[in-house]
Amino acid sequence: MKNIFGSSSLLDVYQSLFEQDDEISFAMDTKGKIQLMNKAAAQILGYTSAEFFHMDYKEVIPKEHIAAVQAHFRHVFKGNKSSFRMTFRNKEGDIIHLSVNAVPIYSEGRIHGAIGIGRVRTEEQYTSELLNGQNAILQMIAKGAPFRDVLRQIVETMEHISPGHPCSILLLDDEKKHLFHGAAPHLPDEYISFINGLAIGENQGSCGTAAFLKKPVIVTDIENDPRCVQHKDIALKYDLKACWSTPIFDDDQQVIGTFAMYYDRIAAPTKADKQIIQEATDLTSIAIQHYKAKEQIQKLAYHDHLTGLPNRRHFRQTLENAIALYPDHTHALFFLDLDRFKFVNDSFGHKTGDELLTMIVDRIQSCLGEHTLFSREGGDEFTIWVGQTSSKAAAEIAESILATFREPFSLHENDLFMTASIGISLYPQDGLQEQELFRKADIAMYEAKKHGRNTFQFYTNLLDRQSLKKLKMESELRSAIARNELTLVYQPIQHLCTGQVHGAEALIRWNSRLFGFVSPIEFIPLAEETGLIIPIGEWVIQTACQQFKTWQEQGLTLTCMSVNLSISQFYQPNLAGTIETILKETGVEPSQLTCEITESMTMDTDNAAAVLRRLKDIGVFISIDDFGTGYSSLSYLQKLPLDTLKIDQSFVRDIAVNESSEKIATTIILMAHHLGLHVVAEGVETEEQLAILKEYQCDAAQGYLLGRPVPPDEFFDQTTHISS
Ligand code: C2E
Ligand code: MG
Ligand code: MG
Repeated sequence: MKNIFGSSSLLDVYQSLFEQDDEISFAMDTKGKIQLMNKAAAQILGYTSAEFFHMDYKEVIPKEHIAAVQAHFRHVFKGNKSSFRMTFRNKEGDIIHLSVNAVPIYSEGRIHGAIGIGRVRTEEQYTSELLNGQNAILQMIAKGAPFRDVLRQIVETMEHISPGHPCSILLLDDEKKHLFHGAAPHLPDEYISFINGLAIGENQGSCGTAAFLKKPVIVTDIENDPRCVQHKDIALKYDLKACWSTPIFDDDQQVIGTFAMYYDRIAAPTKADKQIIQEATDLTSIAIQHYKAKEQIQKLAYHDHLTGLPNRRHFRQTLENAIALYPDHTHALFFLDLDRFKFVNDSFGHKTGDELLTMIVDRIQSCLGEHTLFSREGGDEFTIWVGQTSSKAAAEIAESILATFREPFSLHENDLFMTASIGISLYPQDGLQEQELFRKADIAMYEAKKHGRNTFQFYTNLLDRQSLKKLKMESELRSAIARNELTLVYQPIQHLCTGQVHGAEALIRWNSRLFGFVSPIEFIPLAEETGLIIPIGEWVIQTACQQFKTWQEQGLTLTCMSVNLSISQFYQPNLAGTIETILKETGVEPSQLTCEITESMTMDTDNAAAVLRRLKDIGVFISIDDFGTGYSSLSYLQKLPLDTLKIDQSFVRDIAVNESSEKIATTIILMAHHLGLHVVAEGVETEEQLAILKEYQCDAAQGYLLGRPVPPDEFFDQTTHISS
């Protein structure tokens, strides 16, 4: 006898197979008439096998679900397998939830019906499945599983609880404009790539629209829904006919992604579906926020907040790993310090300082290739690790970094010229351990600063000895005033018109018990660095004024005493007050004191102007020292209350041999006169130089030709000798 299995013997085989099963097993023909039901089914559903036989399954399904279940079976009868949920009314009239897996029955190449199994899902089972799934996911998160794995697990859990609905999670990007693929293990790849990067907005499929409207979008019929015009072809190609999308919110009610459930037929979500979607969006929200926070913490722990660069912790770890990984290569460690950055911070404020830092970081980053790690050590210090390199290649990188500083940085309409000093140590020749490499790169960096900044320097053994010397020097300098090791020498300043010495510049000397004579070029920067410049600077002004008074009392008629100010002294809040007190105590007229400052101190014109105005209020004169070597634009000359301009020795030196030096020097004289400034030439050593300066009507001059810096007594003798 023919039946849906082709023969009665096969039917028997199936029947006995079915009886082995504790779950519902069934077979039916293509008309939906039940052909076989096992005992378990009879028990669970309350009908006898005889009652089931030839019963139309639609009779025992709640009316509102018939269409949905029919659609599934139609799908099976077309040769597909199908997993779906359905509800069933038992003989007592109670609703039973089933998860069904069904496949077609073929015989002689034709489909004659379907067989399947149904698992009963009680309300509790359903809820407990959800709870278990939820627990498993939360545990994964707690254990730090990779983010993508967690998303995938969420989707798979929901698909398991609600078979037959492929799900997807899309994540909203930081700009909150596009959705990107998060997880969709059972959607076709082609569809996933089509959806990846979906813009959010109206009519952007159910997901893009849901993210845009910030509320669930239920598309029951992708084919005919206007919101899916762009996606329907590809969706239908893969039998995706309905899609229900829900936005995922964070704790601040901001959309951070979407969760979607697809269906292979036209349908709306049931209450159970809605519960699953709710659960999935909650879990996904927890996961996204957790991993975002983790990422943030990771970033905080390993990255510099301002620049986003790796911080020192991250840097040191990477460096150690790199050495361990490639112990036989040469690696280079750069220590980069911005020159005079403290000054920018002090005068322009930290906000501007921060802006400048990020601009600098961008520029440096642009010249770093692969195998490099760029990190902020702190403040204005940076480190760069160049893996697998050579000293030649490292030097080239250092040069290219310095080259990026040639153009000014535009900050709030100011053009700021910055420079950097770089120290380099090499693995393995300078050290095998991170600490040693750092120490040596640091020493080399200070050496670069000493060499006039804006340069780079490799570490050498010599430097190590020098840095020790520097430390000792610092400790000696601390007690130099108390031990009377500091003295002042005075260099005459001569009026070129009259030939008279009208002034003196006080220049400091240090005769150390340990180091002998130390040049101010060496110890003034050290004093700056250590803050010792404040007491030393005050001592200079005090001593010079006292000397001036003594000379006056001895009958020497000088009109001016020049003292040099350093930058931190200049920006010392009470500079004017200190000077005023010294003038009062020594009885020197304010107009007899000239303060020499350098161009670099006037970089921040507004602040410099404020300091200078206070000095002018007291009545002292202001002179710009080493003019022509600074970085500033000339406009500051008009804005600042200046009296004198000192042409730097470098121009004077070549004035008689080099035409361009002569042009520069003479142009400075002309310009200064136009601005009503007095001009002093520094470093005059030859008669020729002097003649040219006179020709161009330079007001005064200073230099070995006219008088070397000498101790006070000698100065007195010489000057009275010249004048007499
Ligand atoms: P500066 O203020 O430009 O001083 C002029 C420097 O040129 C002095 O060097 C002086 O000895 C030198 N000099 C003068 N005439 C000639 C010349 O004809 N030929 C050459 N080749 N050099 C000449 P010194 O005394 O070694 O001072 C160097 C720098 O140290 C000074 O440059 C100044 O910037 C700084 N300095 C000196 N004393 C003090 C001080 O008391 N306080 C501060 N903050 N800085 C000081
Ligand atoms: Mg000077
Ligand atoms: Mg000078």
